[in-house]
Amino acid sequence: MGSFARLRDNAGVNPATTPATTAASEALFDRARAVTPGGVNSPVRAFTAVGGTPRFITSASGAWLTDADGNDYVDLICSWGPMLLGHAHPDVQAAVAGAVARGTSYGTPTEPEVELAEEIVARTPVERVRFVSSGTEATMSAIRLARGATGRDLVVKFAGCYHGHVDTLLAQAGSGVATLAVPGTSGVPASSAAETLVLPYNDREAVLAAFAAHGTRIACLITEAFPGNMGVVPPAPGFNAFLAETCRAHGALFISDEVMTGFRATEHGGWGLDGAIEGWVPDLMTFGKVMGGGFPAAAFGGRADLMSHLAPEGSVYQAGTLSGNPVATTAGLATLRLATPEVYAQLDATALTIRNAVTEHLQAASVPHTVQSAGTMFSVFFSGEPVRDFAEASQQDTAAYAAFFHSMLDQGVYLPPSAYEAWFVSAAHDERAISTIIDALPAAAVAAAAASALVDEGGR
Ligand SMILES: *Cc1c(COP(=O)(O)O)cnc(C)c1O
Repeated sequence: MGSFARLRDNAGVNPATTPATTAASEALFDRARAVTPGGVNSPVRAFTAVGGTPRFITSASGAWLTDADGNDYVDLICSWGPMLLGHAHPDVQAAVAGAVARGTSYGTPTEPEVELAEEIVARTPVERVRFVSSGTEATMSAIRLARGATGRDLVVKFAGCYHGHVDTLLAQAGSGVATLAVPGTSGVPASSAAETLVLPYNDREAVLAAFAAHGTRIACLITEAFPGNMGVVPPAPGFNAFLAETCRAHGALFISDEVMTGFRATEHGGWGLDGAIEGWVPDLMTFGKVMGGGFPAAAFGGRADLMSHLAPEGSVYQAGTLSGNPVATTAGLATLRLATPEVYAQLDATALTIRNAVTEHLQAASVPHTVQSAGTMFSVFFSGEPVRDFAEASQQDTAAYAAFFHSMLDQGVYLPPSAYEAWFVSAAHDERAISTIIDALPAAAVAAAAASALVDEGGR
């Protein structure tokens, strides 16, 4: 147990006003910055948007993270989605240990790949899948396949949707791109960006206009099934069905990016919330995060006739030295097999409890906020209006969020260090973890209100 557990057991010590020591994380961050840009290997891990030093985590178990100074935190990032069952689940650990003992990579086909592909095909409408090592590779490959299969070049995406750091897909992306408040990124050729049409999310008129103007040149439309990279912004009822139909009418492919929502939002991913009920299927889908069980594994899949355009069956080339790695696919398979309907019901209940508590305490402190959810995923916007697209997500009071974030962190709760990210719970978030979160909310809400007032009154 780290110092938070000890602090909390010490009568008279209020963890809200007694930030833990962070000397070891600070020393590591100094060393990291000397050898790595910004000291991190993925921008969202830095505390750019909220200030301060990211905590260097040394171990994790269940719902808890322990940092280099020995502080414990309830984890509401869950590795940005993958850790559906919590950290170091004993059955996943055992399966991984068994796989490691048999050697870690062969560069040949293996049985765990077949089993994981069968599991994904059983849970989703895809008929064939191809494994890759990251969500970025999955969307990049799906786009190449769509272009190869249609013989067209243009890609339609929505502002605020993040599909990994693929050149064509970084235009007005969410997640770290939104957090850093940059419109796109440098390093992407204008010719690449010119192949991408970026539309406002949830805007049917904009979609119809784009297809009316460019329909015969559009290879595909890609969307997050239930966007979670600008905070959680659900599609308006029927919006995904409308996208699928519009693509079909114009001979373009509909790609549903389920890297975040897959096996997370529901047992059947985001598709379980609309397509499965309404009776439509995407042409292609992408998966990652949960299906890798905490290892680098991702996939794209779709109808058998489309997937047969891929090498070695077809002419669209796609490959990977570590694709379908036996350790990663074993971890993913163990995770999915343990992710039963009961687990999703429990995640739903946990998410609801936390959402309600956040609403109650932010309301009590008069902090404008909106909580939005998609299945077991949710996020808290620090603005008083419902958020339907990226422009509305950008209206948030990020100073209020930064104050809220740091108060929670000081009280032993690790939230995403950005107002533009979903909060993730796991099946290991038990009563002790949930009550730690709830106990931290009153002081964090007061801190958010104070920071928000400072902004309103022009920096009092
Ligand atoms: C995380 C994410 C990606 C990128 O996955 P990486 O494994 O980080 O490359 C793509 N699409 C969505 C919707 C994501 O949430």
